[in-house]
Amino acid sequence: MTHQRYRGRFAPSPSGALHFGSLVAAVGSWLVARHAGGEWLVRIEDIDPPREVPGSAAAILSTLDAFGLSPDRPPVYQSLRGDLYEAAFDRLRHDGHVFPCWCSRSDLADHGGIHRDGRCVAPPDPARPAAWRLRSPDLTIRWHDDLQGPQEENLREVAGDFVIRRVEGFWAYQLACVIDDGEQGVTHVVRGADLLDSTARQIYLQRLLGLPLPGYLHLPLVLDDEGRKLSKSTAALPVDPADPLPALRHALGRLGVEAPAGATGPASLLRGALNGFEPAALRRSSLTPSPTL
Ligand code: GLU
Repeated sequence: MTHQRYRGRFAPSPSGALHFGSLVAAVGSWLVARHAGGEWLVRIEDIDPPREVPGSAAAILSTLDAFGLSPDRPPVYQSLRGDLYEAAFDRLRHDGHVFPCWCSRSDLADHGGIHRDGRCVAPPDPARPAAWRLRSPDLTIRWHDDLQGPQEENLREVAGDFVIRRVEGFWAYQLACVIDDGEQGVTHVVRGADLLDSTARQIYLQRLLGLPLPGYLHLPLVLDDEGRKLSKSTAALPVDPADPLPALRHALGRLGVEAPAGATGPASLLRGALNGFEPAALRRSSLTPSPTL
């Protein structure tokens, strides 16, 4: 068997400037990739036009650069990869795994918001566009997370039949992410623990599409003082590309990684943090309250 070189990635959505929570995910995935002597890629997940903030993809990339986090290859933009998603969708449809669905959120409210067993609540209405869902079998997916340990999730119970093409025609995150991780040869996915519960759906899609299974490592989340996830929508502060050292030190601290004293710039700080770095020693659980940056 040939030994495949480690390839990791950071996959931000351009829904605003890079905020501190995303910086932690970027630094974590970069450290694990570099520790493995591997490559680190950046993928812009711009498949949700209503949530996209114009200019934020470019701003995220230049901020990463200012933080010493430059990808080894040109960034990939999901908005330009619709043909790949369409081909995978056609295949899933041909194999009978997907079905059109007209159910709204309120239609599913009585079912805990979960669509199960391919059974729609709303009647078909060919006059209106449909969303496309992937049928979730009663199947328990088990996998090992390199930081969070053994995981399992029953697809039917937890996720149900999930959307892979939205009613507006946009591709859903689950499908695009799986296709790209496969097509880009990503061997390890390191990201925030908010996506831990997407992993079973992604592994199921990989199985259906015959894609290799990457390793997974889910990093602790950065929570605000009320214990909520910091995200652009809860007005998390963007990090300042003009003054990267304080936020970078803080991000390393959040990950439980010792930051060397005396670093003069982000590149030397990151290099120093790699010395003696061990992925298994990353902090596992999310911390709250968050100290001021
Ligand atoms: N685009 C997703 C986000 O910004 C991350 C996807 C991933 O890392 O799998 O939350």
